[in-house]
Amino acid sequence: MKIIESISELKAETRPFKKECKTVGFVPTMGYLHEGHISLVKSSRQDNDITIMSIFVNPMQFGPNEDFEKYPRDIQTDAKKAEEAGVDILFIPGVNEMYPDGYNTYVEVSGITEKLCGKSRPGHFKGVCTVVLKLFNIVEPDRAYFGQKDAQQAAVIRRMVKDLNSTVQIITCPIVRESDGLAMSSRNVYLSKEEREAALILSRSLNEAADMASKGEVRRDRLMDYLIDRISSEKLADIDYVEILDAETLELKETLKGRMLFAVAVRFGKTRLIDNVIVEVR
Ligand code: AMP
Repeated sequence: MKIIESISELKAETRPFKKECKTVGFVPTMGYLHEGHISLVKSSRQDNDITIMSIFVNPMQFGPNEDFEKYPRDIQTDAKKAEEAGVDILFIPGVNEMYPDGYNTYVEVSGITEKLCGKSRPGHFKGVCTVVLKLFNIVEPDRAYFGQKDAQQAAVIRRMVKDLNSTVQIITCPIVRESDGLAMSSRNVYLSKEEREAALILSRSLNEAADMASKGEVRRDRLMDYLIDRISSEKLADIDYVEILDAETLELKETLKGRMLFAVAVRFGKTRLIDNVIVEVR
């Protein structure tokens, strides 16, 4: 596995792939790798000749009072995990490489960025879209792999790619969970033992609500009430949002129909966790 820090070096390394008609899969991450990230690498390796992973903790997508400074970082362990997973090139640009002096261009998707995480984290998706489009222009992948864990992010990226006529194919991969159901996340390391236990309420309540919908409950307000009550029953849980929306458009539907996204963001102490399930309602 090659580790590359500069954009020009990455371009030089990937140029021959195009000539040789090799397909490139791209896995953008912020590092502190876990099995969720590795599952994206596995999918990329199945579909492509070459897999490139980036690790970049993007300051632009963090709000002023968020955890940019203390976001967990461990490049050495990450490099080992990436190599073991079969990544061909690990791209680790510095902040100045991505945003040199005078940098002044931003990508903003309207509409679907104004709800869920976009509402509680103003400017977050502007940072995400800007960095993802920059990385697409640098890596020039055929396919890019995103986790369903960040359901809104995947929907926003799909919208951006469509609107801006990018040729990158966006692949969304299922959520990888710990054996007890907690969705894997680099931020899980922030949790105390009690908070880690309390956080199980997310997957449990989502599964229960999904089960109710599968058994015929199509009234959004009933399912919302259930989720809010169930999560609030956990003392350490502080709800940021609970939402049930159309999985593609993120539009609100009072009566569930089609692919529906049940999404939650909840704070446990200082740690904000997100989780979701998708339910097909006929
Ligand atoms: P992050 O490093 O948290 O920015 O995540 C990088 C990519 O990994 C994003 O596309 C995430 O959606 C995806 N990802 C993070 N956690 C998981 C998980 N538990 N299962 C599947 N994908 C994940």
